[in-house]
Amino acid sequence: GNTRISAIIADPIHHVKTPQGINARLLANHVDGVLVPVHVSADELPAVVNGFRAMKNLQGFIVTVPHKSAILALCDEVEEDAQRIGAVNVVRRDENGRLRGYMLDGEGFVAGLKGANIPLANQTAYLAGAGGAANAIAFALAKNGVKQLTIANRTAEKAEDLIDRVSKAYPKCQYQLGSRDPSGHNLVVNATSLGLRTEDALPLDTEPLTPDQTVAEIIMQPAETALLAAAKSKGCQVHPGLPMLQNQLALMTKILAFIEEE
Ligand code: NDP
Repeated sequence: GNTRISAIIADPIHHVKTPQGINARLLANHVDGVLVPVHVSADELPAVVNGFRAMKNLQGFIVTVPHKSAILALCDEVEEDAQRIGAVNVVRRDENGRLRGYMLDGEGFVAGLKGANIPLANQTAYLAGAGGAANAIAFALAKNGVKQLTIANRTAEKAEDLIDRVSKAYPKCQYQLGSRDPSGHNLVVNATSLGLRTEDALPLDTEPLTPDQTVAEIIMQPAETALLAAAKSKGCQVHPGLPMLQNQLALMTKILAFIEEE
């Protein structure tokens, strides 16, 4: 009866692998808990969330496609940056059924860099992309003390809009709309979806990369994208996409009150 339940909501649900990662962590830590995948369509989201409020042993739930934006209006509280980003990927349910939303993409990414001893404070960063993941990463980079951030995106208006929002939240950092040339930045990040498929074009010009630059991916599969291969051949330090996910899983397990991992 004390089993701590949490859920992951998605539509479609078949591709969702998070329960495997989190349930393995629970087992390893001897926690009486389980994360269950729940298939929820957009029109049923409010009803399901109301049901979640009433479930007394529900710790919370993970939110994926297509609910990350729609969930905001259904939470009682949303962390400040998650509000500015306009997306939530974890909701914690307290004992009174109140729901608090978090967006962990950026924090997971930054934790991965920290784990690899890649510095952020007073560094300059180039970010390719202005979609969901790029939004979270831009806010996290600015929050963690990057002194200059260049954002480049195929649809320039989306990068401009992102710069507009992040600069209001973190005015100490300097912002610039970028081209495909990442020259002169300590850290270069690909947060576009280019690289998922072998036939994809490169998300940025790799020709000007120099060995003092670090190039980071957030694509998990393939582990070595064409961008990382090109960056390596230029002598850059490279950082793969998997740590971002692993760190998010650790943060999620913590937020869902299952365990505090060492
Ligand atoms: P979005 O759809 O929100 O954003 C996609 C981004 O890629 C946009 O900036 C888009 O530009 C750009 N893009 C897509 N196709 C092209 C193209 N043909 N040419 C140029 N630019 C293109 O996706 P997400 O932000 O949710 O996800 C992006 C990537 O991040 C995915 O590969 C996903 O797997 C990965 N990811 C990894 C996580 C992790 O934990 N490691 C977590 C979350 C995401 P435009 O605005 O012009 O359309």
